[in-house]
Amino acid sequence: MSGSIKKIVIVFISVVVILFISPLFIAIDVDAEANEKNIIDFHAHVAGLGYGNSGCFINKEMRENIRFPLYLLAMGVSEKELEEQGDAIVVKKLSAAVAQSKHVNKAVILAMDGVIDAEGNLDRNLTQIYVPNEYVYEQTQQYPNLLYAASINPYRNDAIQRLEHAKAQGAILIKWLPSIMYIDPADPALIPFYQKMIELDMPLLTHTGMEKSFSSARDDLADPQKLALPLSMGVTVIAAHIATTGESHGEDNFERVLPMFKQYPNLYGDISSLTQINKLGFMRKVVNAPELQGRLIYGTDWPLQFFPLVSPWYHLGDISIKQAFTISLIGNAWDRDVALKRAMEIPDDTFAIGKTLLL
Ligand SMILES: [Zn+2]
Repeated sequence: MSGSIKKIVIVFISVVVILFISPLFIAIDVDAEANEKNIIDFHAHVAGLGYGNSGCFINKEMRENIRFPLYLLAMGVSEKELEEQGDAIVVKKLSAAVAQSKHVNKAVILAMDGVIDAEGNLDRNLTQIYVPNEYVYEQTQQYPNLLYAASINPYRNDAIQRLEHAKAQGAILIKWLPSIMYIDPADPALIPFYQKMIELDMPLLTHTGMEKSFSSARDDLADPQKLALPLSMGVTVIAAHIATTGESHGEDNFERVLPMFKQYPNLYGDISSLTQINKLGFMRKVVNAPELQGRLIYGTDWPLQFFPLVSPWYHLGDISIKQAFTISLIGNAWDRDVALKRAMEIPDDTFAIGKTLLL
């Protein structure tokens, strides 16, 4: 390669790198759209290692996984910081970042239950990430901009009592990750749990579609059609990520969930994680699907909105270069997420429906 070509290549690569990583360092306020700070993020995670008696843990398999250091980075903490200040530092930083957002005024923090063994107790070896309800409850009580969502594996011996307790403590919904918690939503053994959810008017937010954030997953359990049982009984179900990615029985999960919106008026979908690089093109499908009109709920899937997982530059087919550049300069992770999804023309009611339905 001649010297001048080499120089051009180096300059080109430098410009691309700067464009991609600038939002990580620059907190310039270029978020031009002036809107009220009234959006609720209905899908945010915290995690911990048990410091400060949080009760959280991450198993060996997940700690040795390449994702572990990336997630710490995305949550803005180091392992040393957790050790010195306790797991609660994650929640404190999250609350502070939401407080700085121009558009998002509250975030729903999701607890994360684990795998349940044959005796009905928590299996600490098979559980990859555990975030107990009590911890999320106590933490969210300390911050007016955080809301509590419980997670209960229905195979627990005391699942029904836990559900009643979560309701009494003000949990706004129950979160499941069936492919990680090994829950089969179509299992008739869960009928009493679903009946109690209806009685307590407790909605279910459950992961649908392939799971890529963990070291292993049983994707057959995230087939959206497994939700026909709770939906037909009358449980309000929010299909997290609207089953984008993966297939079940030889059919795309997204294609499998769409007709269900016509069939079940109590089915909703959340748009968390839809801008991730592994879901390119799905946001356009979601915006264009008539079945999904009036059925979408805003969520981020924080902390999973970081580069290289998410970047406005991946969506140049849907947004302009100018929009991508402007959005990439937004420092606040929540404002960047709102701006990108708005630029991709997500309907305005997506930011309002969750408040009517879940609060
Ligand atoms: Zn999530």
